[in-house]
Amino acid sequence: MAESLMRQWDGVVEAAASTANDDEHDPEGPTIAYEREQLQAMREHVRAELTDLDRAAQRLREGVYWTCEGCGGPIAAARLGARPTARTCIGCAGKAQTRYRS
Ligand SMILES: [Zn+2]
Repeated sequence: MAESLMRQWDGVVEAAASTANDDEHDPEGPTIAYEREQLQAMREHVRAELTDLDRAAQRLREGVYWTCEGCGGPIAAARLGARPTARTCIGCAGKAQTRYRS
């Protein structure tokens, strides 16, 4: 499901790109290029979200949705309610963030 969505998205970005290339002297050119950049950024964001959702669905199928990937403990229902794609308990998420920052 995620893959076909991403292919459709690629089509949109390619169409936007070829429109920009056809008209190099068009004063609208830079705007189109900017919009294309925005599209690309949004695409990356959507892909990350879809990947997270795919992973959450996989975890549901495997019966480990409520299990923290970090420590093997349970993930609080409140946390999954707020962030359904969370894969770690709040304690491990905090540790991971500290690691990324340093
Ligand atoms: Zn944990």
